[in-house]
Amino acid sequence: MSDNNRAFRLRRRPTGQLAPGDLELVTEPVAPLRDGQALVRTLMLSLDPTLRLWMSDIRGYMPPVGLDDVMRGLGIGQVVESRRDDLPVGAFVSGWTGWQELCLADDAVLEAPFNVLPAPLPAPLTAFLGALGHTGITAYIGIDLGAVQPGETVVVSAAAGAVGSIAGQLAKARGARVVGIAGGPEKVRHVVDVLGFDACVDHRADDWREQLDAATPDGIDVDFENVGGEIMDHVFMRLNIGARVALCGMISQYNNSGGGDQWVGQVNIGQLIMQRATMAGFLVLDYAERFEEAIEALAGMLGEGRLKYDETVMDGGLELMPDALGALFEGTNTGKLVLRIGEPA
Ligand code: NDP
Repeated sequence: MSDNNRAFRLRRRPTGQLAPGDLELVTEPVAPLRDGQALVRTLMLSLDPTLRLWMSDIRGYMPPVGLDDVMRGLGIGQVVESRRDDLPVGAFVSGWTGWQELCLADDAVLEAPFNVLPAPLPAPLTAFLGALGHTGITAYIGIDLGAVQPGETVVVSAAAGAVGSIAGQLAKARGARVVGIAGGPEKVRHVVDVLGFDACVDHRADDWREQLDAATPDGIDVDFENVGGEIMDHVFMRLNIGARVALCGMISQYNNSGGGDQWVGQVNIGQLIMQRATMAGFLVLDYAERFEEAIEALAGMLGEGRLKYDETVMDGGLELMPDALGALFEGTNTGKLVLRIGEPA
């Protein structure tokens, strides 16, 4: 195969938001395959807030992406050439494609082997990054950790996003009263009217604190936390005795990692003591043994029409990846944000 690969390499660690020059788009030749290798053409790339964390040299849950390395990332691809039996040509796969058009599937090099997707596909390819992929599973695990009970009040931040939209619906399915927090009137309407949350707070409105107070008259029993910062701080002021916080993410702080100066810490963290509440941080990566169970449950709900699945699919070339990452932090996405960079053969 004589194709060249185009890839984004990390040249500099961002300070604040990702800036031009932090990543470089390079064109490189693809070496001939050896036994035990396959070549995967990337069809779509997943936009995840954690990508920004991986660019910073901070204490994280994975090593930072090395300078000059291809940017790490999850995606969906199709095997276009193969010298291994488990990855036949034509198969659709999900896994660590990286920010590149062609990925060498070599278990000695990749973070983890690719997963071959079922054939025929039970859902559109994009769903394997969203409701039936790592973001759906994250929601499933987090709601389970929060031990959501019927009649409880559950607050979900970034409620219109990939994880939040599923988490809120799973909490509803457990009989909870679910309050979302999202940015802007359009998202707020979407969260209530389409996703079926009981209420939603617009965190871009000046009176968002009053909105949250009004929407949680009986306090908050479970906080599915995706945002952190001042939103989490106000949620904490409404925690009930014995509340649980499933600390999934803190996207409001990710652009501060590695040099930003906006981080002020969580001011109201002491409410965990006052309310005898518990907070558990969790990483979906640690729950591999429950992936099958989660996907089965999510696929079942989808199939029965009990789960609404949202996505924002950007079309264009690989070169759009930095802008697409910015879109997550600006909040222009509803549901799972994906960049499609190729079509199946
Ligand atoms: P989303 O699809 O939710 O996109 C991010 C959303 O966050 C935006 O659409 C925006 O929504 C909101 N947002 C961005 N910046 C801010 C801000 N400063 N203040 C308030 N809201 C903001 O992304 P994901 O569903 O992929 O991720 C959601 C969270 O889940 C992240 O924190 C992520 O790190 C975490 N996560 C954790 C995992 C784990 O294993 N623990 C796995 C996967 C994700 P809006 O317009 O409503 O403001």
